[in-house]
Amino acid sequence: MTLHLIPDYDLSKHTWLGVGGKADFFAEVESEADLISFLKNSQCPITILGAGSNVLIRDGGIAGVVLKLGKSLQNITIEGDKIIAGAGTKLMDIAGKAANAGLTGFEFMEGIPGTLGGGLASNAGAFGGKLSDLLQEISFIDFQGNKKIISDFSDWGYRSSPWAKKGIFWGAVLRAKGQEDTDKIRFLMNEYHTKRVATQPQGVRTAGSTFKNPPNTSAGFLLEKSGLKGYKKGKAEMSAKHANFLVNNGATATELEDFVEEVRAIVAEREGVKLEWEVQCLGRR
Ligand SMILES: Cc1cc2nc3c(=O)[nH]c(=O)nc-3n(C[C@H](O)[C@H](O)[C@H](O)COP(=O)(O)OP(=O)(O)OC[C@H]3O[C@@H](n4cnc5c(N)ncnc54)[C@H](O)[C@@H]3O)c2cc1C
Repeated sequence: MTLHLIPDYDLSKHTWLGVGGKADFFAEVESEADLISFLKNSQCPITILGAGSNVLIRDGGIAGVVLKLGKSLQNITIEGDKIIAGAGTKLMDIAGKAANAGLTGFEFMEGIPGTLGGGLASNAGAFGGKLSDLLQEISFIDFQGNKKIISDFSDWGYRSSPWAKKGIFWGAVLRAKGQEDTDKIRFLMNEYHTKRVATQPQGVRTAGSTFKNPPNTSAGFLLEKSGLKGYKKGKAEMSAKHANFLVNNGATATELEDFVEEVRAIVAEREGVKLEWEVQCLGRR
């Protein structure tokens, strides 16, 4: 078997912001052997897409091949205090399974709508927790088709992973921080959920936090101080509920990207801080 490549594939339906042009080619990956064989025999640029909850895909689409992990990469096995999961698994499913098994440390994943693979690319985190705190081992396939096991996480930082953009996260072994009563774990997850509902826009097209938090402050605070909470231009908006959440009310990718760049320039001018994008902008304008 090899990958089934679909030409001119509309990517907007795969992203939370609901924008983006077409991939030259798109394929779902189900088997490691197919992926490795494809990578070893292809010269095309490769982009990997998870749940599309942290990307702004540009209107000109993406050159080369866009890969998405298929159903066979959505799996969770629990062995003692370890969770072994395929990279296509939703972080929230991992949190749920961990809670049922009485394993702590995964609660922060509640409310993060991405996959494990996407989470590994940004070292996703919330409420003081982050993926690298739990990682024991990652299986990774570089863009040349070489498989590696990653077991050193000392240089993983806040929303940064040294392996991002170098290949494909295939799966990971995560180790719980400890054992706890399932009800207590669920209670904490509910608290996190309640906090999100109270502070973040719901039921809108967004990609979560637009900018990373600079050292010792938060992007939301700086945006609010710059008068940008609820700031709108056309169909693009910085949420009135959480200033760091970009909301798409029907804008194009170009309009969204230009709007965010304008907002960035305003914060730089008013607060002297150059905010760094947390959302990944991919593709051609
Ligand atoms: C409402 C909302 C709330 C959010 N809250 C949080 C939060 O609290 N904390 C947080 O950290 N994030 C948060 N996010 C952002 C997002 O959910 C996370 O960054 C998530 O981990 C992205 O996963 P994804 O599968 O959607 O990745 P995508 O958005 O599809 O991709 C993101 C990046 O990861 C790469 N990638 C995806 N899969 C793989 C793979 N298998 N191998 C290699 N690279 C890959 C892509 O190429 C891209 O560069 C939020 C987003 C939304 C919409």
